[in-house]
Amino acid sequence: MERITNRAKQVERKPMTFLESIYLVAIVKGLMITLKHFFMKKATINYPEEKRPFSPVFRGLHVLNRDEEGRENCTACGLCALACPAEAITMEAAERLPGEENKYREEKYAAKYEINMLRCIFCGFCEEACPKDAVYLSQTVAPASFNRKNFIYTKEDLLIPHPKSAE
Ligand code: SF4
Ligand code: SF4
Repeated sequence: MERITNRAKQVERKPMTFLESIYLVAIVKGLMITLKHFFMKKATINYPEEKRPFSPVFRGLHVLNRDEEGRENCTACGLCALACPAEAITMEAAERLPGEENKYREEKYAAKYEINMLRCIFCGFCEEACPKDAVYLSQTVAPASFNRKNFIYTKEDLLIPHPKSAE
């Protein structure tokens, strides 16, 4: 075959010596590597009994915030949904009725608020976009599930407990 460049090198395949042909040296070398790793510090941990500490900037499950009186902060402005690159957030707005001032901080609130954790990439853009300090990402890992429906987190799943009822 014609060579395209002059960089090609001929590889010599020398016949094996007797010692090489019985693979004894190679086996001993391999065992030495195994033995060396046996006494080295393990790179793995016994999860879930052992857990690694997360980075301080780790972003986990979302939380919907309340104010100090227990009223929902979210005004269903939709900015978080707009900022979300994964289109994971959906909501429906509703108007606060007279007598509901103790439940919702603003005149408008999210009657429905859902985050699809299968779509979410935990980028934190929703938290940054929110002008009402209503949504933030906690340090909790989303639990595993075999059912896709369990990854749709509703407002009830996301809202933090009422400060008065938690007392
Ligand atoms: S963390 Fe990112 S991907 Fe997840 S809901 Fe918020 S904006 Fe969307
Ligand atoms: S969580 Fe914040 S950004 Fe999203 S709808 Fe509610 S108030 Fe607006």
